[in-house]
Amino acid sequence: MENQTQADITPLLNEEIRRFETGHVAWLHFTPEVEKRYLRDTAASRASTLLTHGLFAGIVYDFFLLSDYFMAPDHILRAVLVRLLIFTPIMLLAAAIVRYQSNVALRELSVAFACLTGALGILYLHHEINTTVSIEAQLGLILMLLGMNCLIRLELVYATATTFVLAVADVLWLKNDGFLPLTHKLVLGGMMAWSVLLTLAANYAIARDRRFSYLLQLHGRLQRGMLADANAELVALSSTDRLTGLPNRLAYDSRLGHIWKMTQESRTPLSAVMVDVDHFKLVNDTYGHPYGDRVLQRVASLLQQALREEDDFVARIGGEEFLVLLPHTDSAFAIKVAERIRTLVQVAGSPALQRDTTLHHEVWTTVSCGVATLWPAHPGSDPAQLIADADAAMYRAKQEGRNRVCSAPVPPSPSRLTIFPGGAQRA
Ligand code: GH3
Ligand code: MG
Ligand code: MG
Repeated sequence: MENQTQADITPLLNEEIRRFETGHVAWLHFTPEVEKRYLRDTAASRASTLLTHGLFAGIVYDFFLLSDYFMAPDHILRAVLVRLLIFTPIMLLAAAIVRYQSNVALRELSVAFACLTGALGILYLHHEINTTVSIEAQLGLILMLLGMNCLIRLELVYATATTFVLAVADVLWLKNDGFLPLTHKLVLGGMMAWSVLLTLAANYAIARDRRFSYLLQLHGRLQRGMLADANAELVALSSTDRLTGLPNRLAYDSRLGHIWKMTQESRTPLSAVMVDVDHFKLVNDTYGHPYGDRVLQRVASLLQQALREEDDFVARIGGEEFLVLLPHTDSAFAIKVAERIRTLVQVAGSPALQRDTTLHHEVWTTVSCGVATLWPAHPGSDPAQLIADADAAMYRAKQEGRNRVCSAPVPPSPSRLTIFPGGAQRA
């Protein structure tokens, strides 16, 4: 499912990356699918930025109480009211919304509202006191714009809307100010206009870079994910036999080491059964190669049915040769499993012939099995020896007439080893 999503989103992502690379990004929003993912992936870091930067800016705002005190001591109560009793609770409420609400618009709106309250508070506090305080009001507003658009970095739409309201309020404020001469008003108004443009341009540039870097990161992540999936698929393919679907020789090589180690640690016996189809060349010669293939598929399926799902392992290691590994299994039980395999193949190992097949003489599918057992925890035990013993036992079964099970000499179970510790005994 995740792979499907990755494959679906990659073309859209490539399109967005091309759009950002060529600079056609007047509209920063991505296509809906990518935008949804962007908002989801960046929600946590966005909340953290809003929270830390917003609180920092809020504390700086409250610190200006000191400047209020020095510039206009007579109005300090009004400053305390605006900064500590109006702005601060609104700022804390906005912080709580950012912290506990996942709705993106609500988060940005609450922070924008807190910023606007702060800005209007500055205008109110510095209204009609004296020329210096009026100039200070304009500088305060410029700082406010910097904090809102460049430090907190409100999303562009919210930043633009809030800045617009703030600029209109400032124009009205300047118009009604009774202390500043017209030239000062024009100069300060001009500085405000430039600050509006510059901070919004910076806000846009930061948002554009943040979105572009997200696109590149997501693209890299998806590429790595798809590469890992392709690798896993390749490994699975390279370790599976195409005809029977069983693990192949490559898979068997790595699995033998793993099973050997497991039985070594559990101090239990490990048995191997070498299974070889009898007179398979004759089966091919009589009924044709495609029929021979069907026989191999049938034998593979019967082998799987004869084994325990959890621990037992079977692989096709040659043309018509299969190897079964039975961890936690002693020789007596392995012989029973081999006998079960032999009987199953004898009864059900021959698929029905095609209607147009000319029957020269009856050929039944049978197998010869060689069983060997070792105790991997026993010093000097060797996996290669186990397989060689099973192979030798299988050849003996061939020599003794085929369609039978032969076992290698059973090694004595070392008295020092625990046989079948809790739960390891096979059923
Ligand atoms: P034995 O009882 O001694 O094992 O005799 P056999 O004929 O089974 O053994 P031999 O090694 O002489 O022949 C094995 C045959 O298996 C020869 C080969 O053509 C056939 N074979 C190997 N791989 C495949 C396969 O994938 N499909 C088919 N149909 N035949 C295969
Ligand atoms: Mg054979
Ligand atoms: Mg063979």
